[in-house]
Parts: sequence; structure tokens; C-alpha cells
Amino acid sequence: MRTIAVMNQKGGVGKTTSSVNIAAALAKSGNKVCIIDLDPQGHASIHLGLECGPGTLSIYDVFAERTTADLARQLVAENLSVVPSNIDLAAVEMELAGVQHREFILRDALRDWQEQNRFDYVIMDCPPSLGVLTINALCAVKEVLIPLQPHFFALQGLSKLFETTALVTRRLNRELKVSGVALCMYESGTRLAADVTEDLRHFLATSDGDTPWANAKIFRTRIRRNIKLAEAPGFGQSIFGYASTCPGARDYAGLAEELAAMAEVSSPKNEGNTVSNAA
Ligand code: ADP
Ligand code: MG
Repeated sequence: MRTIAVMNQKGGVGKTTSSVNIAAALAKSGNKVCIIDLDPQGHASIHLGLECGPGTLSIYDVFAERTTADLARQLVAENLSVVPSNIDLAAVEMELAGVQHREFILRDALRDWQEQNRFDYVIMDCPPSLGVLTINALCAVKEVLIPLQPHFFALQGLSKLFETTALVTRRLNRELKVSGVALCMYESGTRLAADVTEDLRHFLATSDGDTPWANAKIFRTRIRRNIKLAEAPGFGQSIFGYASTCPGARDYAGLAEELAAMAEVSSPKNEGNTVSNAA
């Protein structure tokens, strides 16, 4: 079971869009996938057509240890389920202040899934902060995927984010690795996008070998700006349900394939599999 936190403390960079559409692409190609919505705004849940009103079990109830992830999970498409979230989750930050081992609640809640290898992928859509919810995600996963919108300040935020992963690896979860950075809302042909990408490449190439991002890749598939991706949530559908042939669908299919191929690198039968729609 691969466990992936989609994380960036900046809002509006493409975390939810990436979580939902990567998950949908992986499910479409036959993988069993579960999204855990860790944002109190509940955007991933809404994106997949779930209304998580009062009385609906949510990830908040899992944090409150009132239910299990399995009972809170809802099937939204073939092979694809979501543990939804709503604004109740905003209280977790305060409610858990002072609680011992609060970083590990989610990890412990998913122990059965880990042991039973319940899904091929569990994808966590993190909130735009580095608070207790994101830390729970980082303690419950082995991989981090960072969506990044290439603009002038993008790398500044990234170093803070990397520091956080380093702190978590040192203190809380030795297995954590940054798998890669996905460039989102990419404006092909612009100087800025190319410059930021080059700076990022340089930063990664010159990083210490023992950091959690030492082997992070910049995914070759860039997610271009595509209005269909912004429209799809309003219809409660992934991009594959809403507009399966648009550039956004092609980009996320490519990114998901690259992500899937990464784990398979060590397996000889898949050697030589490379995927890209690189700009
Ligand atoms: P985050 O979860 O990081 O806050 P979102 O995934 O919600 O970011 O994206 C922010 C906004 O940008 C949303 O309205 C989303 O629909 C839109 N968006 C995301 N990716 C793209 C894209 N590639 N092209 C066009 N709009 C996008
Ligand atoms: Mg979001």
C-alpha cells in the first residue's frame, strides 16, 4: 500500500486538484484508491460529489476516535473512495493541543489498512498549513508529493516545507521521503516557469544525500493551466468524469502514470517504463 501526502502549506497551488485527479487516474487504471480529505474546507470531498453535512461520518470522527476510517469511508466511483471532511475538522487543532502522541492518531487509525494492504494507494489531501493535521499526514505516510505553482516566491515556501519534512523524519517518521514535485498551473513557454523549474532542479541536485528529498524528482509531466480542471469540482466529478479528453485529463493521467512507475522501478518486469508529456 503506497501512502502519499499531497502537501504544500500555501493555498491555491493545486493540492486538492492533484489529489483528486491523480487518485481518479490511478483508480481508473484498476488500482484500489482511497483519498483522505484532511482539509476542513472539505474541497476534495466536494470535488468528488460528497456533501459531508452534520451527521455524516468524517475524518473528524476518526480523529475523535468515535469511528474507524473504514466506517467513515464512502465509495465515489469504481475503485475510488473518500474519507470526507468538513468544517468540524477545524476544531482538531485546538482539541488535540496538549494531547500526548497527537501526531500519530491518523497513523494508528490506518494501521489495519497497512497490515491488510487494503488499498494500492492512500492519498491525503493536506490543508494549507503545517499544523497538527499535516503533521498527522506526514506521520502516516511514506511519501510526500508537492504540488508547486512556479512563481517567484514558490521556492521560498518550499524550503520551509522541506525543513518540516526533515524535522518529521528526524523525530517522528524515519520512513518519510519526498517523492517528487509536480509543477501545477504551468504556463508553458514562459520565462518565469522555466526559471523557477531550473532553480528547483539546482536546489534538488545540490541537496545533501541524507535529506528526505534527496531523491525527489521533478515530475516530467507538467500540469498546464486548464479551465476544465477548475470547472470539474462544481460538477462533483474528477476531470475524467467531467472532460475526459481535455488537456487537464491528459496531464493528470500522465502524472499518475509517472507516479505509479516510480514504485515499480525496482521490479524488473517494469524496467524501461518511462512516461512523459514533458513540456
Ligand atoms: P489547493 O488545494 O492547493 O488550495 P486547488 O487544487 O484547490 O489548490 O486549486 C486552487 C484553484 O485553482 C481551484 O479553484 C482549482 O480548481 C484551480 N486549479 C487547480 N489547478 C488548475 C489548473 N491546472 N488549471 C486551472 N485551474 C486550476
Ligand atoms: Mg485544497
